[in-house]
Amino acid sequence: MTLEAYQKEAQKTALYPEAYRLLYPTLGLVGEAGELANKVKKVLRDQGGNLTEEVREALVAELGDVLWYVAQVATDLGVSLEEVAQKNLAKLRSRQARGQLGGSGDNR
Ligand SMILES: [Mg+2]
Repeated sequence: MTLEAYQKEAQKTALYPEAYRLLYPTLGLVGEAGELANKVKKVLRDQGGNLTEEVREALVAELGDVLWYVAQVATDLGVSLEEVAQKNLAKLRSRQARGQLGGSGDNR
């Protein structure tokens, strides 16, 4: 499946009101990222960092939820996931070429 196909299909399942465009999926993205982080935290707390297949599947599901909200934020911004991915890689390659992958700051 391509990013474009995923974004199109995901859009068909977006039910939030037009008035909440961008805000709704942004809040959802943060919520789902939190769910993912919490499950990873519990792997550390309860399983000594050992990832069982059951937990791995649960993490994959949460990652899918994150992806859905990323797709909706992109849709509400009027940008394709493909463009988001390409621009992100271009940014990282530029930083890599300039020896700036480490460190901090959005515009390095
Ligand atoms: Mg979830």
